[in-house]
Amino acid sequence: MPLTPDSNPCPVCAAARDYMFTQRVLGRHDVAYFQCQGCGLLQTETPHWLEEAYSQAIADTDTGLLQRNLEHASFLNLLLQVAFDPKGRFVDVAGGYGVLTRLLRDRGFDAWWADKYCNNLFAIGHEASEGLQAQALFAFEVLEHVTDPLAFLRTEFARYGCGSMVLSTLTFSGSAPAQGWWYYSLESGQHVSFYQPRTLQRLASQLGCEYTRVHDGLHLLMARPLAPWLRRVLRSRRLRSMFERWFWSRRVLPSLTWCDHEQARQRLRGAEPATAPP
Ligand SMILES: [Zn+2]
Repeated sequence: MPLTPDSNPCPVCAAARDYMFTQRVLGRHDVAYFQCQGCGLLQTETPHWLEEAYSQAIADTDTGLLQRNLEHASFLNLLLQVAFDPKGRFVDVAGGYGVLTRLLRDRGFDAWWADKYCNNLFAIGHEASEGLQAQALFAFEVLEHVTDPLAFLRTEFARYGCGSMVLSTLTFSGSAPAQGWWYYSLESGQHVSFYQPRTLQRLASQLGCEYTRVHDGLHLLMARPLAPWLRRVLRSRRLRSMFERWFWSRRVLPSLTWCDHEQARQRLRGAEPATAPP
């Protein structure tokens, strides 16, 4: 098939893009996919179907939500203790129902929730206020929803005075995955950008961060380089699991479960809602 250049340049590296194929999204929209000649980012055409796609913020097909949050909590319990000040503040910038924020607070981390598109069900009272200064941000299953990832990351880093992010998105290598790949999420219509590790590397260098691929689905953008031994641990499935289990069994921080319960009771009695000072 002859490749037709897309008129829009790549939002990450500004290189030209090639037409790859057309797939049917939401069962009724024929959508063209383009791949960047520079960084390999694969994207749909400018999405015009998102209002329809987001009639529900979290798609019915996302059956992995709870299992994923448990795995992320276990990973973060390790990472936040070895690569950050564990007593610092952290913001889940697309916190969904607040499951991860709650799990991290249960482990004693000062985690806060933000999400423009979803209701906070599990971390009520811990909505991150504008100007809150965070040590690191989390963006799990977000980047594939974003049409301009560079602008998204710059905005979130500026909002929380922060230059590190732990993110998940399923990456691919080489040519675009075959049509029908499950991660295209054709039934939900919500996934519009698909990354390679080299795309994330390019994003990191644009932002002045160090990129680490933990595995195909989990990635770090770090304001300060990770220690070489830690990079080795994180990138080895065996070592990472071993360290995660060890840190999970050894509680260092006091849990915030009870103190959050007391705050919630105070709020219900009419006291001021809990907000984090800047
Ligand atoms: Zn590019």
